[in-house]
Parts: sequence; structure tokens; C-alpha cells
Amino acid sequence: MISESLDTNDRQTAIENDESRFELAAESITVRIRWFGLCVGYALVYFSAPMENRVALYGILLLGAAYAIVDTSFSLRNRVFLGGWPLVISLMEAVFIGLLCHFDFGLESQFRYYYFLSLLVCALRYQPRVTYTTFLMHAASFSALAISRQTHTAGDLGTVVLTVVLMGWVTSASTALANLMRSVRLRLSQLNDELQRNQRLLEHRIDERTQELQASQALLLQQEKQAAFGLLAAGIAHEVGNPLAAISSLVQLLNRREQDEYTRERLVMVDEQLRRIQRTLRELVDFSRPATNEETDCDIHEVIDEALNIAKYYKRKKGKTIVTEYSADLPEIRAVRDQLVQVFLNLIQNAMDATDEGGVIRIFTDLEDEELYVLIEDDGHGISRDDRDKLFKAYFTTKESGTGLGLFVCRNIVEQTAGGRITLADSSEGHTTFRVSLPVDPTVA
Ligand code: ADP
Repeated sequence: MISESLDTNDRQTAIENDESRFELAAESITVRIRWFGLCVGYALVYFSAPMENRVALYGILLLGAAYAIVDTSFSLRNRVFLGGWPLVISLMEAVFIGLLCHFDFGLESQFRYYYFLSLLVCALRYQPRVTYTTFLMHAASFSALAISRQTHTAGDLGTVVLTVVLMGWVTSASTALANLMRSVRLRLSQLNDELQRNQRLLEHRIDERTQELQASQALLLQQEKQAAFGLLAAGIAHEVGNPLAAISSLVQLLNRREQDEYTRERLVMVDEQLRRIQRTLRELVDFSRPATNEETDCDIHEVIDEALNIAKYYKRKKGKTIVTEYSADLPEIRAVRDQLVQVFLNLIQNAMDATDEGGVIRIFTDLEDEELYVLIEDDGHGISRDDRDKLFKAYFTTKESGTGLGLFVCRNIVEQTAGGRITLADSSEGHTTFRVSLPVDPTVA
């Protein structure tokens, strides 16, 4: 709704800009026509006007030149002189041309053609009603010439009628042409508008496609890395697992023998540590097993616990407390389990990176409007206002050894494969909360 009204405002402003551009262009044409008319006027007076009236005619042309100078200076400053008073201009022109004709040869004066020029320019610049009113003024001006004559001939009436008819004809033809021009201009402006809208749409689509491409590239990169890591982990587990198994059986053999108390206790401790290493290796192999894309019904708490189980081996875990506050009886969600584990692992690792020793990370779960949500809160350094918009963009990182792909991949997994949302719910100095919302599958009981 807001964007629609913005669009309408934009269009309105574009139309207004277009109007004022047109007005200025028309004004500059008018100025040129005026100067041309003045030059022709001086030539006419010089070569053909009655000797006794030349001074008066030069005086009138001088007034016209003064007006043209003011008009030109306005036009050079991209303004229109008397722009809001078109009828005042028409009246001045009617009087000006009438006076020129009067001091020249009256009804036969060559200056009468200026009426046509004036009507043409008026039609080009103003609405039809202004042009028609101008026509009436010019007709009155020309008729006044006939009335002001001392002697009237039959030919005078004919000249007046013919000139007025011609003026009416020029008025209607130029008004029709100007209207046609206006509608073409409007259509062009609409087409231009549409073109710009389509261009914006195209840019938006290209942007979207680029982001999708980046997303799939990033996912591929992450998957490749994980696969390589899986192979490596399986290899290490195999290489370390075999000697470990051998050591473990040796320890058990020794245990069965007669031992003094001290040695037996130490052997039990060695055995416990060996089991711990084997458990860690198992978890490592479990985490790095080839990922499947199969959707299953997942218990969100099991998923988070699995992520926490892996996160405990993260070197920056030291000295930080992770508190979980799980809501009871949450329904299961349908998702690719390994991918969800990856999402929470990444969020927990980011929280650990952001906190110093002694920091606390809290994980809440709850249900709201058919949506299950998880909040991952930390009391770390927070996220600067500038960075907040860039968090989910590919390759955005503020860490020295970061890839900037974590949150980007998380968003893709949550939105595209789990149908949910991931947002930065809150961030200030010493506090950051990410929220993951996941739709609850209504078919899951
Ligand atoms: P990486 O971890 O490789 O930097 P991520 O996409 O996971 O990539 O994170 C992008 C950036 O978001 C991080 O570099 C960090 O600046 C910021 N960030 C993410 N989580 C947090 C958090 N909990 N606290 C502060 N900054 C964070």
C-alpha cells in the first residue's frame, strides 16, 4: 500500500518535471520567435513603413525588444516570465501588433501576420481555452484597426472578415496539433515510466538470481568442505581407533592380572580416558558422515543437543557457560536433521566467538502461532548498526579467519529447506539474540 502510494507520488513528480521541462523548451522557442519577429519588424519599418510614422514604429519595436530582453533573461535562468499570466501576455501582444499595424498601413500592414504567429505560439504553450481567448483578443485588436480608420470601404470589411476567419482557422488547426502533441508527449512519458519500472524489475530479478547463484555456490562449497572433512575424520578415526583398541585390550588384560591397589586404580583411570577418546572419535565420525537430504520428523531439542555436543569440542568453548531453557512438549518438525544441526552449531559457534571468557549463552525454545521458535542469546560484543544489514550476505565476516558463509548458509537452510525464518532479533552492546522460527508440521502429532 505504502509502496503503491510512493509509486503514484513518483509518477506525479515525474509528470510535473516533464511538464516544466516542456514549458521551458516551449519558452525558449517563443523567445527565438520573438527575436526573429523583432528583426523582421525593424526590416519592415526600415524598408516599407510610412516615413512619418517610423519613429513611432521604432519606439513600439523598442518596447517589444525590452520585453524580449526580460523574457530571454528569465528563460536563460530556466524560468518563464509571466508564466502564470498567459492572458496578460496575449493582451500585450494584441495591443502591440495592433499598434504596429495602426502606425504602418492599417489593415494592409504586413504586421498583421504577427497575429498568426502569436496564436501558433500560444497554442503550443497553453491550454486551448487560452488560445481561443487570445484569438478573440486578436480579432478585437484587428477589428479595432478597421474601426479606427477615418474612411471605411467595402474591401475593409472583406479584409477584416477574411483575416479573422484565417485567425480562427490557425487557432483551431494549431490547437488540434498542440493537443496531438500533448497526447503523444503523455504517451511517451507513460512508456518511459513503464520502461523505467521494467528496468527496475529486471535489476531486481538479476539481483535475486545472483543471490540464488551465490547461495548454491556457498552451499556447494560448504558441502564439499564437509565431505572432505568427513573423509579426513573417518581416516583419522580409523588410524587412531585401531591402536586405541589395541591399547584398550592391553589395559583390560593387565587389569585381569594380580595388581596392587595403586596400579589397578591407575589402570581404571587409563581405561576411562581411552573410552573418552573413543567416544569423541565416534562423535566426530557421526558428525562427518555423508549428509543426506532426507526429511524426517525431528525433535528440536535433540537437534540442539546434537549441535551442543559437537560445539563442546570447539576451542573457544573454554570458560563459557551454555544454558538451555527448553519448553516442554514441543511438537516435532519436519526437516533435514543434519542441516538443522548445522544451523544451530553455526549460531552457537558465532555466539562463542562473540563472548569472552565467563560469557553466557542461553538457548530458549517455545511455541508461538503454529511456529516453533528457538532463541540463541549471548552476552558478547554485539553487532554494530552498520553490520546488521549485511549479516546474512554471502562472504560478510568481521572475523580474521571467518568465511562469512555461516549465516548465509543458515538462512538458506532455514528458509528454503525448512520453510522457516532466521532473524537477528536483537543486538546491542553486550547482547545479541538470533531467532530461528520453524513451521510446525500439522500432520505430525
Ligand atoms: P563467519 O562466522 O565466518 O564470520 P557468519 O556468516 O557465521 O560468518 O557470521 C558473519 C558475521 O556476523 C560474523 O563475522 C560476525 O561479525 C557477525 N556475527 C554473527 N553472529 C554474531 C554474534 N552472536 N555476535 C556478534 N556478531 C555476530
